[in-house]
Amino acid sequence: MTEFTIQTSNRNEFIDITSQVRSFVQRSDIDEGICTVYCPHTTAAITINENADPDVTADIMQKLNKMIPPHENYRHLEGNSDAHIKSSIIGNSVQIIVSEGHLQLGTWQGIYFCEFDGSRSRHIWVSIK
Ligand code: ZN
Repeated sequence: MTEFTIQTSNRNEFIDITSQVRSFVQRSDIDEGICTVYCPHTTAAITINENADPDVTADIMQKLNKMIPPHENYRHLEGNSDAHIKSSIIGNSVQIIVSEGHLQLGTWQGIYFCEFDGSRSRHIWVSIK
């Protein structure tokens, strides 16, 4: 397993981490397997979506923010329940097939770290089996 750290800049933000994951796959000596990208945080998430048009992730974030407003009748005293809910909806990990030593992503797919309670320093774990 390897770990890398990213610094987020906004409370809600999508950050393309495809190149970091791809370089880990290239440095490993595994030609065939499954790459797991995992986020060990309760107010962030990992997803795969279109990386050609940045309006796609902007639209996803806009819809999440509308469905899950920051202030509602939440019970959690820390005041970031919206971030916990978004994290659970999107999920903490993705898996991508590795074949012939390459990450098998579709033409328009990128891997995104989803920040919902930034700005913070965040860890991302990557493993290939
Ligand atoms: Zn909390």
